[in-house]
Amino acid sequence: MASGKINVAVENIFPLIKKFLYSDHEIFLRELISNATDATLKLKHLSNIGESKEDYGTPIIEIKIDKDKRTLHVIDQGLGMTTEEVNKYINELAFSGAEEFINQYKESAKDSGIIGHFGLGFYSAFMVAEKVEIITKSHKDAPAAHWTCDGSPEYTLVDHDKADRGTEIILHIDSESDEFLEENRINELLSKYNKFMPIPIKFGTREETHEEGEGDDKKEIKETVDNIVNNTNPAWTKKPSDLDDEAYKSFYRELYPMQFEEPLFHIHLNVDYPFALTGILYFPKLNNEINVQKDRIQLYQNQVFVTDNVEGIVPEFLTMLRGVIDSPDIPLNVSRSYLQADGAVKKISNYIAKKVADKLQSIFKNERQSLEEKWNDIKVVIEYGMLSEDKFYEKAQKFNLYPTTDGTYLTLDELKEQTKALQTDKDEKLIQLYAANIDEQHAYIEAAKAKGYTVLLLDSPIVGHLLQKLEQEDNKLSFVRVDSAHIDKLITKDEPQLSKLSDEEKETLKPLIENVVPKEKYTVQLEAMDSEAAPFLITQPEFMRRMKEMQQTGGGGGMFGGGFPDMYQLVVNVNHPLVGQILETKTAKKQERLIKQSLDLARLSQSLLKGEELTAFIKRSYDMIK
Ligand code: ADP
Ligand code: MG
Repeated sequence: MASGKINVAVENIFPLIKKFLYSDHEIFLRELISNATDATLKLKHLSNIGESKEDYGTPIIEIKIDKDKRTLHVIDQGLGMTTEEVNKYINELAFSGAEEFINQYKESAKDSGIIGHFGLGFYSAFMVAEKVEIITKSHKDAPAAHWTCDGSPEYTLVDHDKADRGTEIILHIDSESDEFLEENRINELLSKYNKFMPIPIKFGTREETHEEGEGDDKKEIKETVDNIVNNTNPAWTKKPSDLDDEAYKSFYRELYPMQFEEPLFHIHLNVDYPFALTGILYFPKLNNEINVQKDRIQLYQNQVFVTDNVEGIVPEFLTMLRGVIDSPDIPLNVSRSYLQADGAVKKISNYIAKKVADKLQSIFKNERQSLEEKWNDIKVVIEYGMLSEDKFYEKAQKFNLYPTTDGTYLTLDELKEQTKALQTDKDEKLIQLYAANIDEQHAYIEAAKAKGYTVLLLDSPIVGHLLQKLEQEDNKLSFVRVDSAHIDKLITKDEPQLSKLSDEEKETLKPLIENVVPKEKYTVQLEAMDSEAAPFLITQPEFMRRMKEMQQTGGGGGMFGGGFPDMYQLVVNVNHPLVGQILETKTAKKQERLIKQSLDLARLSQSLLKGEELTAFIKRSYDMIK
């Protein structure tokens, strides 16, 4: 029998493992199964190149729990280890990587990112076990070895009578880690980390029934079969040409069993230079936000789940997507801030953004209608991308769609063409009218359409920022919401209307209205407009509303600190008969009532009349008609 001390230099590592890796104890199983997978794949390679005489067969990895003995077993049929190899790989080289980790850890103690992504390898078993055994039989002609270590640096290494090739790791689960003796907990871990690993993993058995025979002889046969928990051949490892639409959708369901909504479309990633990366990304329907936090993009390394926090690896605007990324080239034993500065990782992130843009461009080119149908579900992602990544902004100029209030979709170029055609003076600014809500701004939209203008429907929360950027990039472009001013003031170049009221009359009228209308909310403005136009019209200047919106969605317009005031313009059409009537009304009380009613009607048409004021308005209206 041999016994000895594991690398004395790191004598203190056991308490450190337990203490620092507390939150992530569960990764031990992933590490052990990864080792078992490596051992199996190594054997496969050796037998392929003729360096192992063993029959590779169809090896599996088995996980077993023995509750009575409080043990958890990871058993593989891989290449195994000789006594010398156990000495070399388990005893001598132990902690070589971990030691480095501990040193690194001191500096960045607050960055918990490290812990979750650092594989401590075989020794992570001691996070949950008071004693660990290795029973291993090499594919080479040598006796099996039995290594035992109780968590102190001392170990024993003796021969064993194990006859079949492979390795069994036995964990004697410690009293604080009872959870890992529970079948449910192990199932949970297997499905989190090992769902797509390349070697079949067996955990227990299950009953399977199938029918045999015909007619009266037909009987149900019950069979006990291995319960294999993983799909060894997930979609992203296949060639896109071997997958149809249904295959992509079914992989989506496999990834997110609790998602009932189908993805809108997918993007298959596949690159081997200058970094290796495969994966499938899906655009989900984002209207159902409930699972946004839970169902995120998953990062794998060689089919082993690492994390679903892909911050820094996937461009931020695409973190709302779902799917899988598998890359052995992403350094994981480093902090997140390091990751973001890492050149290789930056390349990966750029590649992903580019692939997404290319895919959208190709859908735009080849199946524009399908893109239009999905547009409202994906536009926030695109808009966010255009705002956050300049390269994406440039590419997106070609396929970004601007929905109109008529249900059509235009690109920026198409839009510009349209407005240019309406304009006589080619040097003028190209004014694009838009609305944010068809119902609330109905009257304004109709007024603009009556003059022949297309009104865009831009209703996503960050669109204000995007418009700002578009205007910065092209100073001839100007976006104006339909209710920013009367349509005649916005774009129409018709001759100004003559006022039906004299200057004197106007001077009398203005204070009359100002006295009734709340000063802190409305500035009164008299305008000579078409007599068909509304008598009272509430507008809010474009810049003011945009500042306010941008402040709500972050950035811009911060100068008003506590909040941008809600200021509107009350445009009074002096050419409307009702306005003339207000002026001629003799009693102040009746005058006030007419002004109030008109103001409320104007507010009502812009959904500004609510609650108590709406109730009062309705009551007043009933009183007037009864
Ligand atoms: P790593 O997997 O990064 O090399 P580990 O600490 O996980 O580090 O494992 C150390 C070494 O022990 C492995 O490189 C391998 O040589 C050996 N080993 C661990 N588990 C097994 C196993 N199940 N079968 C054969 N060899 C193993
Ligand atoms: Mg390992």
